[in-house]
Amino acid sequence: MGFAKSDFRKRGADLPVNLDARQRVPTISPLAINLERVGKAGKLVAAEVTRRIRKGTNMAKILLVEDNEMNRDMLLRRLERKGYTVVIALDGAEGVAKARAELPDVILMDMSLPVLDGWEATRQLKTDPATKGIPIIALTAHAMAEDEQKAREAGCDDFDTKPIELERLLGKIQTQLQNQGNV
Ligand code: MN
Repeated sequence: MGFAKSDFRKRGADLPVNLDARQRVPTISPLAINLERVGKAGKLVAAEVTRRIRKGTNMAKILLVEDNEMNRDMLLRRLERKGYTVVIALDGAEGVAKARAELPDVILMDMSLPVLDGWEATRQLKTDPATKGIPIIALTAHAMAEDEQKAREAGCDDFDTKPIELERLLGKIQTQLQNQGNV
């Protein structure tokens, strides 16, 4: 047999003001204590969880630094279709600025860029403590061994050549995201 609504209302009205002391219930409920403990640390954990979920799925943020409009639009569309968030920059200087502002999970850096080329932009990002941890994948038009060597010397974490083969590039992006997640 259940209680009628009016029974609850009556019981509620009869509750003594000093309920806690009488019933030896702690003034702060265990739930409230846990919430207090979670506070700041909990927010950090939540941020970390969000970051890992982003990395573990295709929701990572990619900064694409590419001056060639056709290459840029094509790659932007295909990466977005895979679920990535893509931020674009049209030259090396904008690439450095956007990397600092957006703190992407991975940077795809064309090497032949106006204002500041990809090698110099990479050097700047890799010497800045705020951005040096962001993996950079160099993109060059020529499949030349010396370009790969040069890219690695500038601080690039990986290297790929144009024309882009999407599956191959996606594999390299995933590898960088996973490496970063393990640190
Ligand atoms: Mn270019």
